[in-house]
Amino acid sequence: MRPFWLQQALESTQEAVCPPLQGDARCDVCIVGGGYTGLWTALMLKEAVPALDVVLIEADICGAGASGRNGGCALSWSAKYFTLERLFGAAEAVRLVRESERSIAEIGAFCVANGIDCDYRLDGTLYTATNAAQVGATDAVIAALEHQGINSFRRLPLQQVQRLAGSARHLEGWFSPAAATVQPGKLVRGLRRVALQRGVRIFEGTAMTGLEHGTPVQVRTATGSVRADRVVLGLNAWMARAFPQFERSVAIVSSDMVITEPCPELLRQIGLDSGISVLDSRIFVHYYHNTSDGRLMLGKGGNTFAYGGRMLPVFDQPSPYRPLLRESLGGFFPALAEVPLAASWNGPSDRSVTGLPFFGKLDGQGNVFYGFGYSGSGVGPCHMGGQILSSLALGLDNPWTRSPLVKGPLGLFPPEPIRYLGSLMVRNAIRRKERAEDHGLRPRRLDVRLARFAAAAGKADKG
Ligand SMILES: Cc1cc2nc3c(=O)[nH]c(=O)nc-3n(C[C@H](O)[C@H](O)[C@H](O)COP(=O)(O)OP(=O)(O)OC[C@H]3O[C@@H](n4cnc5c(N)ncnc54)[C@H](O)[C@@H]3O)c2cc1C
Repeated sequence: MRPFWLQQALESTQEAVCPPLQGDARCDVCIVGGGYTGLWTALMLKEAVPALDVVLIEADICGAGASGRNGGCALSWSAKYFTLERLFGAAEAVRLVRESERSIAEIGAFCVANGIDCDYRLDGTLYTATNAAQVGATDAVIAALEHQGINSFRRLPLQQVQRLAGSARHLEGWFSPAAATVQPGKLVRGLRRVALQRGVRIFEGTAMTGLEHGTPVQVRTATGSVRADRVVLGLNAWMARAFPQFERSVAIVSSDMVITEPCPELLRQIGLDSGISVLDSRIFVHYYHNTSDGRLMLGKGGNTFAYGGRMLPVFDQPSPYRPLLRESLGGFFPALAEVPLAASWNGPSDRSVTGLPFFGKLDGQGNVFYGFGYSGSGVGPCHMGGQILSSLALGLDNPWTRSPLVKGPLGLFPPEPIRYLGSLMVRNAIRRKERAEDHGLRPRRLDVRLARFAAAAGKADKG
């Protein structure tokens, strides 16, 4: 089963699959993984040096991973300001928040310049509270952003929040114009089309089966190999299994989503008629937005955890949390309670300890680079990832290659089975805590304490 967005994107273009690699290939840069990270990197490399011979291999089809199935909320790193400041210092934190906003605008500009029709709408985002315990949760980070002169949020009157969000469940709301929504499958497939037009050689149905360091590096596949001066790994959640040294750097966790059949008239009636994204202040957030074809999409993170970073079959099946999401949808939008669901799906997110992606040189080698760990927030940040990885592959000295984001993973999860059992314990504590808060009850102290383990990374992660 292809997730809804990717299926819709494939049907709208009817493009042929790029044939798998047969035999051996030689190139300047080999990129492994055809999601946003790999494709932005390829595009930026070609932009910088058009003559560069870039090969991209993808195990399935481009967009088959998280990039073709996410929530489509392109958000900045504003809400991660405290984590950025704690890890990297104020100056770099300020730079990264600004860059994350710039990336959102640049994705839109790129789509316009290259005719990528992915329903990109720069209509902003609303960070809200959906129970009394969440009220005020965003204040401190907004104050810090304000202090640094980088605050794009403003508090809206409650009536306006509820009208913009289309739901009376919201109790407060901060609006930022620096956010967009996209049809994620159309975005990733559009990047693929432009990459092909710019001369990137793409091989789909071509999984990397091994990598041998050296000059050149050799990337092995089932039916051949690619020898490349430099290699970029954009494998996201698959990285932890492909390279055991990263097994404890990320936890693989699902985000789950439902989308309705078209109901444009109802959406207009409840006021949800812009491309705004809405996120509440839970640890495993609710996030939603409408679509240009008059549907409502709603998602929630933090559901299925994978033991040992395994890719579970459930990630490619309809969401097991569909009934729960249906209930949430009805809770937010009573008027939509009877609208049929067109689809549900889920997918693996690579949650890092910090909630931030990390980049680096594989095994300290100067010609193999990687980047992953976006923690459920990669639509905008993968564009930054592309800048980092293309800069590394070109051997540049710039703020991206000097950034502490390039220091590799900044934390490890405990080994299995502790990570798995601990994750479930924390997840269940969060669920109990948030259920209690939804009912205006005081959560158990132990649940609050356990929930802090997940809250540390900051809001707006959808994994
Ligand atoms: C369900 C869900 C909802 C999300 N919602 C949002 C959201 O609303 N907003 C947001 O900002 N972020 C969201 N995210 C996160 C975002 O989608 C990701 O951070 C982003 O797409 C990562 O892009 P990527 O290119 O790094 O990885 P991917 O798109 O996963 O690409 C990795 C690719 O590598 C390929 N691959 C794997 N193994 C091999 C191999 N051995 N050889 C070759 N290729 C291989 C895979 O097939 C895959 O196509 C969500 C994620 C999920 C799963």
